[in-house]
Amino acid sequence: MIKSPRFDIDLDKHYNATVVIACDCGHETRHHLASLHPDKQLHCACGADISMPAAALDLAQRRTDALKASYRVH
Ligand SMILES: [Zn+2]
Repeated sequence: MIKSPRFDIDLDKHYNATVVIACDCGHETRHHLASLHPDKQLHCACGADISMPAAALDLAQRRTDALKASYRVH
């Protein structure tokens, strides 16, 4: 079973999304959402696999869209 990593989305002022992936060790790894791909292997500094499966990337994209929508309201 593929375990989905925990992550947050950061938007910069140009609405570029950064995925902040939280490892079980407490370390956070940042990747631009645009650079992520379901087949791409990601590893934390501790060596743990923090790859983003397609379902997690879908969720990240949807969260990004929701964040952008909420930013435009204010
Ligand atoms: Zn780690």
